[in-house]
Amino acid sequence: MTSVAVIGAGLAGLAAADHLRTAGIDCTLFDKSRSFGGRMSTRRVDEWQFDHGAQYFTARGDAFQAQVQRWISEGVVAPWFDDSYVGTPGMTAPARALAAGMKVVTGCEVAQLRKLATGWSIDSTAGLVDAPGNGKFDAVIVAVPAPQAQAIFARSAVHFSALSQVRYAPCWALMLALDAPLSAQQLWWRPEGGDIAWIARNGSKPQRSGDTLVVHASPSWSREHLEEMPDDVLKRLIPKVSALIGAPVKPIYATAHRWRFALVEQAVGEACLWNDELSLGACGDWCLGPRVECAYDSGLAMAQKIVGRA
Ligand SMILES: Cc1cc2nc3c(=O)[nH]c(=O)nc-3n(C[C@H](O)[C@H](O)[C@H](O)COP(=O)(O)OP(=O)(O)OC[C@H]3O[C@@H](n4cnc5c(N)ncnc54)[C@H](O)[C@@H]3O)c2cc1C
Repeated sequence: MTSVAVIGAGLAGLAAADHLRTAGIDCTLFDKSRSFGGRMSTRRVDEWQFDHGAQYFTARGDAFQAQVQRWISEGVVAPWFDDSYVGTPGMTAPARALAAGMKVVTGCEVAQLRKLATGWSIDSTAGLVDAPGNGKFDAVIVAVPAPQAQAIFARSAVHFSALSQVRYAPCWALMLALDAPLSAQQLWWRPEGGDIAWIARNGSKPQRSGDTLVVHASPSWSREHLEEMPDDVLKRLIPKVSALIGAPVKPIYATAHRWRFALVEQAVGEACLWNDELSLGACGDWCLGPRVECAYDSGLAMAQKIVGRA
């Protein structure tokens, strides 16, 4: 086993590739977006930044604690409140640090995998991907959300039955830049029940500035309003934000982003999936649960499975 293709450069895919690289296995990552990090993401607009996906992460297990300490020493992660950590200056920073020096093909939406006599070949929605080594990969890891993995496998005539049990909650995320600083001192609000699950003062995170809010609608509200237009979502939710904060919120910039697959509601319960005969695996948060650490642990387990076999 000398070369592996990893589909998805979120934390699971990057953790897998990083550990394979340490074991001397050459990896090429493919991601449909123009950047890395997946749901660990930061949007920059003018002078504002919004972490509109994962808000922060915790580190409970030894492996992820060690990784977080490495990131802290590299200056790409810092503590926020209690035992929570954030990427610095944005949530993509730790993913970027892991991706340093790796071969990543961005803007490449993988549609299908084909096993040739020479090895695995990757096709994007635009056809065969022109990347060094394509057609000769010894193994493939699919590290994308479960429904997207299922679509790739279906087109590739491969079946992992465990994928069908995975359930995700969607999430509408609002990004609001305020006209004046809030008088409240709170860093975040996590209302019990109701249509809003979370409000963060993004500017209160280390290495951010400005009075900006990131608001997450609850899973049930997001599900109910999933197909609405972003402007309608903003109109419905901003008054609810004002009511929760206890002050009128008058954004000078406002946008809404829909995460169709945000938080895992039902996971597989195995750290990763692997087909030894095909040398084909799958990993992601959906294996273990709805947290950044689950994605990391799943990617690590995937790499260990391959290294153990190589
Ligand atoms: C709104 C929201 C709030 C969250 N809050 C928290 C939190 O506070 N704390 C916490 O721990 N976790 C939180 N999470 C969850 C956390 O972000 C995820 O568990 C973790 O980032 C998942 O990593 P992953 O690598 O498994 O998947 P992803 O990050 O989704 O990465 C998958 C990658 O695959 C790529 N991809 C998809 N399909 C294809 C394809 N066909 N071809 C090529 N590339 C493809 C995507 O572009 C993406 O880069 C939150 C998530 C969301 C959305």
